[in-house]
Amino acid sequence: MAARKSAIAPTVAEDNVFEIVNAKPEHGVADPAAALKLIREDLGDCTRCKLHKQGRKQIVFGVGDPRAELMFVGEGPGADEDAQGEPFVGRAGQLLNNMIKAMGLRREGVYIANIVKCRPPGNRTPELDECETCSPFLMRQIATIKPRVIVALGATAAKNLLAMNSSLGDLRGHWYDFKPVGSDPSWPGARLAVTYHPAYLLRDPRQKGETWKDLQMVMKYLGIEPPKKAAD
Ligand code: SF4
Repeated sequence: MAARKSAIAPTVAEDNVFEIVNAKPEHGVADPAAALKLIREDLGDCTRCKLHKQGRKQIVFGVGDPRAELMFVGEGPGADEDAQGEPFVGRAGQLLNNMIKAMGLRREGVYIANIVKCRPPGNRTPELDECETCSPFLMRQIATIKPRVIVALGATAAKNLLAMNSSLGDLRGHWYDFKPVGSDPSWPGARLAVTYHPAYLLRDPRQKGETWKDLQMVMKYLGIEPPKKAAD
């Protein structure tokens, strides 16, 4: 059985705390779809971090069910995502779709987003200042959707969400409590699990079995009946 980490991870940089606790346009909006729309409007044609001037074609906000029980969070958009304006639509996205299907779910039934919403040039890892500037908007999306489970895809997503600098190997296999600052007090928060990023699995398919173990942990918690066949 997976261990559960007791500490609630800080989820926003200190500089952003006061911005988060201040009233936001979506506060008090009961319909999560409408609230997400307000967050997207608030983001606007964002120039808050340097990624806005490093070749992005468009902002990739997030996609899926505004009431999803399960949310996947990756690192940042790649070339395909930048072109289409939707997260996880390239080869890695196809693999994520397969993983979601293998869980017995549909892509439309979950919510998918990234730590940063603009493509880092050359698909480099987003830098700390970019993550800290962009992630408050992801926190607001999470606080709106109120998922039961968040799956962090890859080390960048996991380290940023959990504010921990451990290796992916150490972060996997545990549950973490996760609740953005300023969330609805009546929401108990989400549980967060960590697994490999699909792009990494494309490079090293041997880790698919380990990824499936992580997803099975999530399925068990959500009460999803394990399908007979694993992701391929
Ligand atoms: S990555 Fe985020 S903070 Fe930076 S410009 Fe894009 S939307 Fe704004």
